[in-house]
Formats: sequence, structure tokens, C-alpha cells
Amino acid sequence: MRKSNNIVCIKAVTWSRDSHGLYDYESRSVHKRLIQAVNSINIVRSGTDVQPVSDFTNLNHMSDQSALCSLEHEKNEFYIIPNDTEPLWQVVRSMKCQYGSGYILKEGDIIKLGRVSFKITSLQAQDDRNLSDNTQDSEDIDCDVPNERENGVCKVCLFEDSDPGNPLISPCNCSGTMKYIHLLCLQKWLTLRMVSRSTENCITYSWKSIECEICKCPYPFSFCAKGHGTDLFKIERPEVPYLVLEAIAGDRNNNRAIHIISVTSKNSVKLGRGHDSDVRISDISVSRCHAIVKLRDGNFLLEDHNSKFGTLIKSKDRIHISSNNSVVVQTGRTVISMSLKSSTSPFDLGGDLDISLDEEISPLGKRSL
Ligand SMILES: [Zn+2]
Ligand SMILES: [Zn+2]
Repeated sequence: MRKSNNIVCIKAVTWSRDSHGLYDYESRSVHKRLIQAVNSINIVRSGTDVQPVSDFTNLNHMSDQSALCSLEHEKNEFYIIPNDTEPLWQVVRSMKCQYGSGYILKEGDIIKLGRVSFKITSLQAQDDRNLSDNTQDSEDIDCDVPNERENGVCKVCLFEDSDPGNPLISPCNCSGTMKYIHLLCLQKWLTLRMVSRSTENCITYSWKSIECEICKCPYPFSFCAKGHGTDLFKIERPEVPYLVLEAIAGDRNNNRAIHIISVTSKNSVKLGRGHDSDVRISDISVSRCHAIVKLRDGNFLLEDHNSKFGTLIKSKDRIHISSNNSVVVQTGRTVISMSLKSSTSPFDLGGDLDISLDEEISPLGKRSL
């Protein structure tokens, strides 16, 4: 039953290879599918094909079926809803903002270049000392602080005394006499394991195997004791404007890296695998010049640089599909473009199928820097 005057035209392309949930924006080896929807639907991928289904409950995982996302129809508006199991990413090369193509970064955003993810933990365009650091990190853990009856002893210095500036914390799974460590004792230990590297516009701090030597529990970037968040990794904040990127640890290791990027209205900062990148990311899925950050009127603008595996922003909420802008998202090796069409104009399925989605999702064309 048709409830609205609009149709959502859904174009899905799936890369034929299944490699780390990547989509190759340069590959011609893709499978295309066009779907039109007038109401809420759920979208699944079976092999390289994409299909609408009424619900996700009867997915056949044996035949490589996975839930991608949903289209929700509410009060004549349409929204893309992420699925719980597979993250939904917005494709930066198809995003628009007041400065043209690109995306304006916000604190807390998760960005992905190829298969490497970063969190924007802090960004500062103007000097404002009253602004506090980001303390509500998703990686925050609540630490046990010993109460009056318990005799907490620091496992490093063996002293019991603590004060608000140097509390005894329990940041890992150790128990008994090994449970507690002073905040400053832990920070001193972390500083000894830190390596820093500078380029003209970026300082990178990295730590290898940041885990408790006894219980092997990885240490978080920050912790929360009695409601106060504190960074475990003490780093110098640079002159404004700056942007702090925290590498999101993969499953394989407990290495940590923080990139502090200085962006001014005069420079633009390159992120990529190439030797001339300001933020160097040594991963084969990252292009030599993958993405660029610029400062525009106090906003940090992220642009994709025609990268092979795309620059993506994790979407936390549903995305509204408006009539003047199509929304392009990636989930695993499938890229989905959704746009509204009025049902009064004929829906030319055959014609649309011939449109290369490459053109549709990369309106920038080739640029030179
Ligand atoms: Zn201590
Ligand atoms: Zn431990």
C-alpha cells in the first residue's frame, strides 16, 4: 500500500571480493542492484546481491546472508537506520557541506580510511582555556578506588597513600595485592614506553603493547574514577588550531597511537601512506594521499582524495533522506545510495541501471593538489 508520494530509489553496489569489509571505489568488478521502496524495508546482502526483506529474523547465514541496514518511513519522511551487527558509514566523497564537498568534523566522530579507524578525541579552532578535554570517552572504564576499609597498596611503589591528584586506581583485571596502582606511577610507566615522531604539521605519539604486564589486560586511553575522567596518556596540547586523532586499536594488538595535527587556514594536512603525508598511516588499504583536512571559518573540513578504499564517517543515528540530496552509505563491501523521487515522474528502471554508480558517488572527478 502506498502511503506517500515519494519513492526511494536505492542503488546498491557490492564489491565482488570480500576483504576486511572494504569496498574498492576503483574496481569495475562490482554487482549492481536497483530497488525502489515506498515504505519501510530492510536490506540484506546475499553473496554479492542485495535484496529487500520484510524483516531480519529469517536470515540464512549459511548462504552468506547479512543484514545491512533499514529504510524507515515515518510521517512521510524516509530515514536510513543502521543495523546493530554491521556498522553504517557515510561516504565522505559524496557528502556536501557549506564549503562544497566534504564533511565538517566533530568531537567524538569515528573516521575510517581504508580499514584503519580513528576517533576525533579533541578539536580546537579557537583558544579557549575554559574548554575541558573530552572526558566522556567511550573507552572510559570506571575504576575501583579503594574505600576507607580497604588497604590499597600501589603495586609499583608499594605506598598506600593517595590524594585526589594521584589516586590509587585499578585499571586492569589484577586483584589482591596487585589490584591497585597510583595514577602517576602508571602514567610514568606509560611515558617510558612512548615513542614520538614529528612532521611539519603533526606529532604522533605511539605506544607498543599497552597492557598490564601481569594480567595482560589492555589499558584504556582514559579512565573514570569517582566521576572524573582523566587521560592516562599525558601529551602536550599544541597551539590552536589543532585536531587530535586517536587510532582505534585493532583486534590484533594493544598498540596505541595519538596524532596531534596542527591545521591552519594556510595549510592543508594530508593523511595517507605516502612519505610526504603529515599523518602517515602504514597500512596497505590506505592510499598514498588518502584524505585532506582543511580549516574553514573555524571548522575542520575533511575531504576524500579519490582514495581507493574510501574515507568514511561512522553514523551513530538514523540519516534523513531529503529531496535535494542523496545519501550514500557503506556497510561492509556494499555501497548504497538512496535518493527521493516523486512518484508522479515515471521511474525508469532500465535507464538508471546503466548509470555508473562510480560517477554517482564521486562527483568530484579528479583533483590535483
Ligand atoms: Zn605508586
Ligand atoms: Zn593487571
